[in-house]
Amino acid sequence: MSLQFNNYLCKISISVFYYLVNSDFDILKILVRWRTGAKKTMEIFKTVSAMQSWSKQLKKQDKTICLVPTMGYLHKGHISLMEKGKELYDKVVLSIFVNPTQFGENEDLDSYPVDLDKDLYYAKKIGIDAVFLPSKDEIYNNNYQTYVELTKLPKHLCGLFRPVHFKGVTTVVTKLFNIVDPDAAIFGQKDYQQLQVIRQMTKDMNFNIKIIGAPIVREDDGLAMSSRNAYLTPEQRKSSLCLSRSLEKVRKMVKQGEIDADVILHKINEFIKSFEGTKIDYSALCDPETLNNVKEVTSKTLFALAVIIGKTRLIDNTIVEPITNPAQ
Ligand code: AMP
Repeated sequence: MSLQFNNYLCKISISVFYYLVNSDFDILKILVRWRTGAKKTMEIFKTVSAMQSWSKQLKKQDKTICLVPTMGYLHKGHISLMEKGKELYDKVVLSIFVNPTQFGENEDLDSYPVDLDKDLYYAKKIGIDAVFLPSKDEIYNNNYQTYVELTKLPKHLCGLFRPVHFKGVTTVVTKLFNIVDPDAAIFGQKDYQQLQVIRQMTKDMNFNIKIIGAPIVREDDGLAMSSRNAYLTPEQRKSSLCLSRSLEKVRKMVKQGEIDADVILHKINEFIKSFEGTKIDYSALCDPETLNNVKEVTSKTLFALAVIIGKTRLIDNTIVEPITNPAQ
């Protein structure tokens, strides 16, 4: 009798478990809510249709929606974007999707860091209203054929070393814009070229979406926060400081009156090479709008660089301005 009862209980528990696991992350929602102690439910959508109908519903209620697109493994840089969204808009949607089309063949798609549990914990703590968490097949089905590509901006800086990258970014962001239908989207200035590309695409494609750029968040010693920093060994972490120190050096040179781009970049490249195990993809001084290289720093100029340390590719940037002649 008691054996039969135990079997019966066991069957019921297994059925309940399967129901919870298969019910659009209900179990995840419950766990996240329990761990963060938050009262409000954070929606977690895995399907395009569920995400779209939530947004549609809120639009009917005249709520404004802000989208923060990420690839997850959240850090303080991502958190600053989400907090900005919370400040400015009624509802914030965080998307977490490691977009395969923006990775080249020999890049780190397969090893990209993931910690969904931690990401959902942060999102809930901040008060994110909905997380869009699609699978690869939900975004790109096996008959997928359409890509969005800019003709000029990707032909500079990172685009020269990552030829498929921006095509993947603009394609996935277009899809996210159509799926979430936000009033605004926030991107970090850490990926300066990406921000410019998205601004241009939004204009070109007539998306009625405000693109907001957010400042670079750094570690205490200056390294720009990035999910990829997790790859660095302690030795490589020391070498990674060559990026932020290069920004300081360029600012100093320009402040002291140096305007010749070749002179500045030569000094910077020598400086980067003095750090153990560094390989420069590029260091460049360019027009902040067109990203064309400049010969002289005579107005606001973007200094951007990409350095490979071990197997980790890191980027950083700053805007520099020449000294103005007080006599003028
Ligand atoms: P990712 O998950 O690397 O695709 O980044 C998602 C968004 O976070 C992008 O808009 C990035 O520019 C932004 N982001 C990444 N790192 C930082 C940072 N250190 N400071 C500010 N924004 C950042």
